[in-house]
Amino acid sequence: MRFVGVFERLGDGYEQVVFGHDPPTGLRTIIAIYSTARGPALGGTRMWAYATEEDALIDALRLSKAMAYKAAAADLRLGGGKGVIIGDSSTGKTPDLLRAYGRQVDRLGGTYITTADVGTTVDDLDVIAETTSHVTGTSRGSGDPSPNTAHGVFHGMHAVAEIAFGEPSLEGRHVVVSGVGKVGGALARKLAAARAHVTVADIRRDAAKALASEIGADVVDASEAFAVPCDIQAPCALGPVVTDETLGSFKCRAIAGAANNQLATPEHGRALASIGIIYAPDYVINAGGLINVEDELHGYDAERARRKAEAIAGTLRTVFEIARAQGITPSEAADRLAEERIRGARR
Ligand code: NAD
Repeated sequence: MRFVGVFERLGDGYEQVVFGHDPPTGLRTIIAIYSTARGPALGGTRMWAYATEEDALIDALRLSKAMAYKAAAADLRLGGGKGVIIGDSSTGKTPDLLRAYGRQVDRLGGTYITTADVGTTVDDLDVIAETTSHVTGTSRGSGDPSPNTAHGVFHGMHAVAEIAFGEPSLEGRHVVVSGVGKVGGALARKLAAARAHVTVADIRRDAAKALASEIGADVVDASEAFAVPCDIQAPCALGPVVTDETLGSFKCRAIAGAANNQLATPEHGRALASIGIIYAPDYVINAGGLINVEDELHGYDAERARRKAEAIAGTLRTVFEIARAQGITPSEAADRLAEERIRGARR
């Protein structure tokens, strides 16, 4: 294992990193807590067949910091943390392993609170909840956060439309939704109900076609979606979306979608700005899911969580205003807002 230099590479300031091994179940886990300055470190558990333990550590560190920024930008009283379980979620996941993981989470005494991420589901959280109470998003709690993520993206898109077109209404706007899974599907339905002109795309072409005929949308091939002339691109599959290869394809005024890690690098954010495309920072506009699981800490109220997700529009307005005033990109503005809030709480 060569962990030397990892902190230097990713930046310091991490509060705690815990390695856990449970020989009877084979559990190998790393839980990274970036910060608890603003509240408990809430972040999902990712189960992934990492090639090396160093890869798993880097992912846990990177993702825990991203959670802290996302929570701070959304002004939630949360820090940021992330758990990773090293293993293939389709073959290596057993109830005993998940219970052992729950015991690891429990030992942290509530400084880290877990929820679902890539490779873990609401059913898995129910098993983890057998050995720790520091878990949100179970079937008895707030459940699947995707509808609230879509709700937040939909409202955030109104703030984007205001900047791009001078008015928040999406009626008659052409929006391309790439990826019609849990979030993209719900978003496309909301857009159609708001009388937007919707085009959908998915590598599961049948799913895209079925949704299109349900809501009266157009369908394009997933490989062509970013090149469709439109008002707003809403990437709702996987990042990165804005890369050296795709940058020249976009024929839209704005990019506003749920996918994580949409920009390949911060330079791609600057490149978008230079060609006049407004970018809604992914972790700001897709915070509705985190808002949903956070609400569970106060006794889950679905209506309250929806209202809090609607406030994403206001957060985006603040971010765009900081970007304008300081001559930086919206992503840089979101980072500054989050960093200031975290630094303030640390002081
Ligand atoms: P999902 O797996 O339900 O849906 C993803 C969809 O994208 C699938 O239908 C898949 O077939 C499709 N897809 C994959 N690659 C594609 C491609 N190249 N082109 C077009 N379609 C493609 O996932 P989800 O929960 O809807 O999440 C979507 C994105 O939003 C992910 O990046 C996720 O990290 C992010 N996100 C989700 C939530 C949430 O609450 N679910 C919260 C925040 C962020």
